[in-house]
Amino acid sequence: GFKCGIVGLPNVGKSTIFNAITAAGAESANYPFCTIEPNVGMVAVPDPRLDELARLVKPKEIVPTVMEFVDIAGLVKGASRGEGLGNQFLGHIRQVDAIAHVVRCFEDDNVVHVDGSIDPLRDIEVIQTELNLADLDSVDRRIQRSSKQARSGDKKLQAEVTVLEKIAKALNRGLPARSVVLEKDEQLLIRDLHLITVKPVLYLANVAEDDLGGTHPFVAQVREHAAAEGAEMLTLCGKIEAEIAELDQDEKVDFLSELGLENSGLDRMIHAGYRLLGLITYFTAGPKEVRAWTVSAGATAPQAAGVIHSDFEKGFIRAEVTAYQDYVRSGGETGAREKGLLRLEGKNYRVVDGDVMHFRFNV
Ligand code: GDP
Repeated sequence: GFKCGIVGLPNVGKSTIFNAITAAGAESANYPFCTIEPNVGMVAVPDPRLDELARLVKPKEIVPTVMEFVDIAGLVKGASRGEGLGNQFLGHIRQVDAIAHVVRCFEDDNVVHVDGSIDPLRDIEVIQTELNLADLDSVDRRIQRSSKQARSGDKKLQAEVTVLEKIAKALNRGLPARSVVLEKDEQLLIRDLHLITVKPVLYLANVAEDDLGGTHPFVAQVREHAAAEGAEMLTLCGKIEAEIAELDQDEKVDFLSELGLENSGLDRMIHAGYRLLGLITYFTAGPKEVRAWTVSAGATAPQAAGVIHSDFEKGFIRAEVTAYQDYVRSGGETGAREKGLLRLEGKNYRVVDGDVMHFRFNV
């Protein structure tokens, strides 16, 4: 599955947002949620296409695809030197695919700020510095080891050192590793380092209850910063998300419209995570269940089958594929087949977002 780690300084609202995620996850019935660790929460990816498919197929179950969120506490000034939860948090953050960085933009005298005042740009800088230092540490160590070994003339190691030196230079200038443009093969050379600052970032400006529109100058600062970095950002209010998470679907719609919002912050967060990670959804539809599955954009049909079960990928023969719109317009599989809109695709087929798929495979 795909994981998004939630980071930020203490008291910025991480747990509040994370708790809203787990409450919403617990709400979405019909999903075999397993409680893994207390800091991991799963949430259903909202997708109206699932309901549309279910209306046609009338399955026993509707199963959304999920996004995983990890609450990564313990990031404080000095964490890269082992202060606070130091190394423990760094281990967690290396395992996520994307980073949601919560930035405090709400003022509340009852909630102390670790640095005594609200200052989003300073907070962002503190976090980025720690993450950069952690990466610099890994990169420097690897440069030492690999450059020693590269003396034997190993071309691959020499290439690796060249890439690492480019990254070290950026990190030393305070830039994230993702700012270094690398070719695919160069990326592969350093993949096993699990660098933190190559991961895409989504800034979450956590605003006050009465500033949902995000009109505070603090929010503008975060927006500008995110734009300059080419990162995504969105505005939400942790406290309100916590309230929304307790509501059922109808109440949620009413509450959001009272607030003048179309989607909850959580829903926007999930969609931003999808965009950030370049993910798409495909569907399986049958009398037992209608279900959504997540794959990386560009995934082939066997790779998509592998998300369901590794045997499906190994024994892949072909896939029956109907585009979502064709499926709905034809009133389901039978209609699509009659109109010739159900295609047989082979192992090189690249899945398109919304494809309704049925796999044929050898066991
Ligand atoms: P964490 O340390 O980053 O996990 O922060 P918490 O989620 O524990 O929040 C710290 C405090 O800020 C708690 O008392 C929250 O109730 C409060 N808080 C979180 N989000 C908001 C918000 O949007 N508005 C206000 N006024 N308080 C918030």
